[in-house]
Amino acid sequence: MPMKFPTFRSRREAAGPENMWTRCPSCEEQLFNKQLEKAMHVCPSCGHHFRLPATVRLDEDLRAAVSTMFMHDVRWLACVDEQGLFAGFVTQRGITRLLGQTYRGAGGPH
Ligand SMILES: [Zn+2]
Repeated sequence: MPMKFPTFRSRREAAGPENMWTRCPSCEEQLFNKQLEKAMHVCPSCGHHFRLPATVRLDEDLRAAVSTMFMHDVRWLACVDEQGLFAGFVTQRGITRLLGQTYRGAGGPH
């Protein structure tokens, strides 16, 4: 017997359809926002790169990156180099780990 999700309908209505889906401007595919986020804002259907929600410079302070994440309410940021070219991604978890190492390396609070 298939599982039922009795709360699914009300949850979807609460979120609103415009918050759930994004239409790819390239192939017009309707993309689930969570799916798009998971694919790092690249259309899984045609490979179209969506405008990234937030970026951080590679040489930027990690704490600045964290505040940028909070500001945009995202769990990852696209990294750009000095030329503004895409250079990879940094995740909130990765930053938290790096900051933890930094503080431990500095000796921690006395
Ligand atoms: Zn597409």
